[in-house]
Amino acid sequence: MATLSPLLKQATPVVATHGQGVNLYDTEGRRHLDFTAGIGVTSTGHCHPKVVEAAQAQVGKLIHGQYTTIMHEPLQRLTERLGDVLPAGLDSLFFSNSGSEAAEAALRLARQATGRPNIVVFQGGFHGRTVAAASLTTSGTKFKTGFAPLMPGVVVAPFPNPRHYRAYGFDAEQATDFALRELDLVLQTQSAPADTAAFLVEPVLGEGGYVPGNRRFFEGLRQRADEHGILLILDEVQTGFGRTGEFWGLDHFGVSPDIMMFAKGIASGFPISGIAASEEVMSKARPGSQGGTYGANAVACAAALATLEVIQEEDLVHNAAARGDQLRAGLERVGGQHAQVAGVTGLGLMLAVEFVDADGEPDGATSAAVQQEAAKRGLLLLNNGMYGQNVRFIPALVVSETEVDEALELWEETLAAVL
Ligand code: PLP
Repeated sequence: MATLSPLLKQATPVVATHGQGVNLYDTEGRRHLDFTAGIGVTSTGHCHPKVVEAAQAQVGKLIHGQYTTIMHEPLQRLTERLGDVLPAGLDSLFFSNSGSEAAEAALRLARQATGRPNIVVFQGGFHGRTVAAASLTTSGTKFKTGFAPLMPGVVVAPFPNPRHYRAYGFDAEQATDFALRELDLVLQTQSAPADTAAFLVEPVLGEGGYVPGNRRFFEGLRQRADEHGILLILDEVQTGFGRTGEFWGLDHFGVSPDIMMFAKGIASGFPISGIAASEEVMSKARPGSQGGTYGANAVACAAALATLEVIQEEDLVHNAAARGDQLRAGLERVGGQHAQVAGVTGLGLMLAVEFVDADGEPDGATSAAVQQEAAKRGLLLLNNGMYGQNVRFIPALVVSETEVDEALELWEETLAAVL
């Protein structure tokens, strides 16, 4: 009998049989409140009837229509439809299957479009696990240790992360000015503008701890990118499609990227990702230099179209904002009862509770214990943060007021049991 590799060790003992909305059901017949959404993927909930119907209909018509051989109808329609929601000017699309592949695609496009080798990334960023994507990642050594050498040409600059700059007494504005000054120094000492293809950054650090950037920071990046002919790549893999209470994470900060990466919430669980850029930038990539057998699978495209329809029809972006406010208020109230809770971070329905020890240092052990205890009580959560110090809440965007209340009740019981 074969077994799963320990690489795939599960965070919870749940063996799921089916899911509906934010609920997962297991082989014992137990119901679990799923506030992980497959790591922010099942945006319309598990098995939304409209997504199921669209995928089932597509399976009977065409499953795979390889996109460098033929165009297929769902891809044609999805491309058109994404044009309605993408930031102005980003009207040329390339599709792949995962966030890491989107990072690879963005990296290659930026190098080809500029003829420059280096990518500047920002401390705490996560862009995936392929060797190139892991090279661009700085949210934890576990993503890199043991399989070096990684890809050269990656330079790290600071992200204005309040957790890091509190120790120096910096407020958000000072932290931002510091980060931008350091970036200027990076451009003077490590990667001259003439060698720098792109800045690659998440609007909200995801795996790095649900730390939002800010308007001043992104304006600073945009200004330096324009000044030096550097491309600005925004990684919206986790923040896109309503997760933060705006359609895109960038909508909070008014920033215009040159290249945008997307994945996760686009298709409610079907694997599809992509990058968007202007035709001018995209046309600088050599045809044939990118692509893959499975990119833009027809069933995934049909599911993405249905997902976009549901997001619009059910006003899920507003629901994410409203339920996010409710959840944050509840998490702050419960957290206020415990000295080990440092605070709540994130935006919309991308929220995390940070745990600290008696010295105020990030406490991954407590956060892991809390996650395990919550799972025993039927509330599925994940950890994140550069030290694993957070427990994060990323329910499907369809989550109801009652379900948020139910999760908060289980959370309160969990913290009372562990802390
Ligand atoms: N970029 C961001 C911001 C992510 O959060 C993730 C995954 O969590 C990725 C890229 C990588 O995506 P994938 O796991 O689909 O390769």
